[in-house]
Amino acid sequence: MSHISQSPDYNRLRKLPGVDALLQRSEDLVARWGHAQVSQGLRRELSRLRDQLQSGGSIEVDAAVIVATVAAELELANGPSLKSVLNLTGTVLHTNLGRASLPPQAVQAAAEAASQTSNLEFDLSTGKRGDRESHIESLVCELTGAEAATAVNNNAAAVLLILNTLAMGREVPVSRGELVEIGGSFRIPEVMQRSGCTLVEVGATNRTHLKDYRGAINVNTALLMKVHASNYSIEGFTSAVAETEIASLARECGLPFVIDLGSGNLLDFPALGLPHEPTVADAIASGADLVSFSGDKLLGGPQAGIIAGRRDLIEQIKQNPLKRALRLDKMTLAALEAVLRLYQNPATLTQHLPGLRQLTRCTDDIATMAARLIAPLAEIISPHYEVSMRGGFSQIGSGAMPVETIATTCLYIQPGSQSDSALRRLAAAFRELPLPVIGRMSNGALIFDLRTLEDESQFLEQLPRLGVLLSC
Ligand SMILES: *Cc1c(COP(=O)(O)O)cnc(C)c1O
Repeated sequence: MSHISQSPDYNRLRKLPGVDALLQRSEDLVARWGHAQVSQGLRRELSRLRDQLQSGGSIEVDAAVIVATVAAELELANGPSLKSVLNLTGTVLHTNLGRASLPPQAVQAAAEAASQTSNLEFDLSTGKRGDRESHIESLVCELTGAEAATAVNNNAAAVLLILNTLAMGREVPVSRGELVEIGGSFRIPEVMQRSGCTLVEVGATNRTHLKDYRGAINVNTALLMKVHASNYSIEGFTSAVAETEIASLARECGLPFVIDLGSGNLLDFPALGLPHEPTVADAIASGADLVSFSGDKLLGGPQAGIIAGRRDLIEQIKQNPLKRALRLDKMTLAALEAVLRLYQNPATLTQHLPGLRQLTRCTDDIATMAARLIAPLAEIISPHYEVSMRGGFSQIGSGAMPVETIATTCLYIQPGSQSDSALRRLAAAFRELPLPVIGRMSNGALIFDLRTLEDESQFLEQLPRLGVLLSC
């Protein structure tokens, strides 16, 4: 200890308040975060100050400042891990950023289902046990033209359940051009294996013909399946068999025909000025016996996998014990019902569904917003970075129209020094904001696609904080 007694800071070190004295000033913090967390935080801060003083740092020791520092740390440490971000990546339905955002009607329905008891599985007219899917089945049927429907946790679960129910221990022919991988872990061949059926690959990567399917059918064949090419496109010398043709072959052979449609579009997209995307109703009309699709892609609802089609097949699926393991929770069901009800008035959908509203947003509107944002952003980040606005293309995302894009306007931010590390530091600072702003990096620029920025104050209000983050 002798070296400390010689230090000019020795007296100040002795003046560091004790934990107990600090705890007495921290009643509010203890009430909020608990004794253990607060005393641990205070000890950590005291030890940090002690280190600083011992190494000769000149700092003022003030109990109020120590408590305030610990309060700020606790606030930060206890903040949610899962939080809102601004998705300006240019991919409207971004799987890593949560896919579709729910409309307020669905948020409210989910909150009510979560916070109150409900008739989830209770028939109010008979007073007897009811079916949790009664709340959505007729809506799905009405919107797709299907006879019956059920829903599970997501479309991966829907595909698994269909195959496990109808094809366990048997063969399913699928075109080699359709053995898709959706984001890492969902691969059609692997899901088929786990469902207990055997994949029979037919045709070639670029071309599959009806005779390929016909040649693969034998007594062990359980069903014919088509998988929508959601996130890729095969171009050039290609040929795929139309749904209607596979449907009639399936019928001829007495087999069910199943389509994994992926994106779950219920709307006439070209009528909204968007690229064509097949609808669930088209798939049913083409002769599919079952169609499965996601709830949180183009549909704009919560994560779910919906299966629509023939009543006898849906009944079999509902009786599979796996159905219980994959079933929807009440909040999701409530949100899904609310979204499906909005579809009953399609004219108002582009107003209510956030994803669809952004996809159909007028390009002039996006460009004028970009023009408004340039100066305030430049004020914070110049002269180290240059901001300009440029035309670009938004992607729909989440397994819909992988090659089609929609014209948009982006903010382009480039470092004056052309340095990658400066650009990475800027992107990191945007991610550190209270509402992290996520863009994309390309060609030496950080790019913000403004199609998905509906409230520009969310961006502008954070600029002073961005300045602080960049200056330290
Ligand atoms: C997205 C997609 C899936 C998986 O759906 P999730 O709802 O993400 O589980 C399966 N098949 C196709 C063709 C898809 O596009």
